[in-house]
Amino acid sequence: MREQITFLGIETSCDETAAAVIRENKNGTADILSNVVSSQIAEHEKFGGVVPELAARAHLENIEFIIDKSLKDAKINLNEIDGIAATAGPGLIVCLTVGLNIGKSIAAFSKKPFIGVNHLEGHALSPGLENKIEFPYLLLLISGGHTQYLIVKDVNQYEQLGTTIDDALGEAFDKTAKMLNLGFPGGPNVEKFSKLGDKNYFKLPEPIINKAGCNLSFAGLKTAVLRESKKINGDEKMKYNLAASFQNTINKILFKKTKVAIEIFKEKTKKKEVRLIVAGGVAANKSIRENLSNLAKEMNCKTIYPDLKFCGDNAAMIAWAGIKRFNKDLIDKIDISAKSRWPLDSTAPYMKGPGLKLD
Ligand code: AMP
Ligand code: MG
Repeated sequence: MREQITFLGIETSCDETAAAVIRENKNGTADILSNVVSSQIAEHEKFGGVVPELAARAHLENIEFIIDKSLKDAKINLNEIDGIAATAGPGLIVCLTVGLNIGKSIAAFSKKPFIGVNHLEGHALSPGLENKIEFPYLLLLISGGHTQYLIVKDVNQYEQLGTTIDDALGEAFDKTAKMLNLGFPGGPNVEKFSKLGDKNYFKLPEPIINKAGCNLSFAGLKTAVLRESKKINGDEKMKYNLAASFQNTINKILFKKTKVAIEIFKEKTKKKEVRLIVAGGVAANKSIRENLSNLAKEMNCKTIYPDLKFCGDNAAMIAWAGIKRFNKDLIDKIDISAKSRWPLDSTAPYMKGPGLKLD
């Protein structure tokens, strides 16, 4: 076995077709030998959201080229790879299956170990690509499909502290953009146009702000944006005011809930020093970063934001999680199947649907 492990990673859980070759270096961080991401924004733009069948077809059309390119960019051939990791969930089954099957096939014919990675574990461990950080740390994962606070205790060991009880944060951004006709993908456009508006113009609700620990809710906020967007009749200035007020409300919610999460983290881990990692596509939002950095200063904790290229969906984080699992002998059988739902903390309560009690 080689001293420094090298993995090919494959990611097709939603609308990015991605492959990467990653090597663990002597410092314990990663050498990014290649990181190829092909986004399908153009395919889904006219529908204002991701269409699963179209996404799966685009993955099928692109995946071989993307994997080939990742090997060529890395100037490496398959013999020099120690294992293959592909996202096995959570995500859209028709999409996951494309990357998972090709990953399993490559592993089978090259007789290499295969690891089916939980996409959320990819995000959770992604700060380790660039930083040597010790466990445990507090993770705020904010993406198009997920919004969670987790204690990352070790590879394969997670404790969920809170999650959204309705929409994911990225979804709230995307829906707000749709209601305001700001285009797709919504998040970056809401951020851009909110800079042109008055953030205090609209008073929007902050659902469950003073209850339910660090669980979050965005549905009531989204409904309020819908109601106001109907009243403003497409007036440009008011649209920017509404985008700015939405962004400001999100900042207030995240400030309060992250504060609660830090307190719970301290209590559970008995650690005085807290490292807060913010990952996922929405972590690209500069206003959210500034806001959470202010909170961190106030609470004397350290924030780490993965580089933008590792915030959104990518295969570097999947290869990296593969290496980390491989080092712990967490190797999968080749018959592992795709899972649409796959929480990192299997003991965490399911926080959606009627009958949910919050206190
Ligand atoms: P992911 O699910 O990790 O691929 O991230 C995609 C989600 O991140 C989508 O909902 C995007 O709208 C959102 N997103 C990307 N950039 C930003 C941004 N600058 N501000 C807010 N949301 C963003
Ligand atoms: Mg994505």
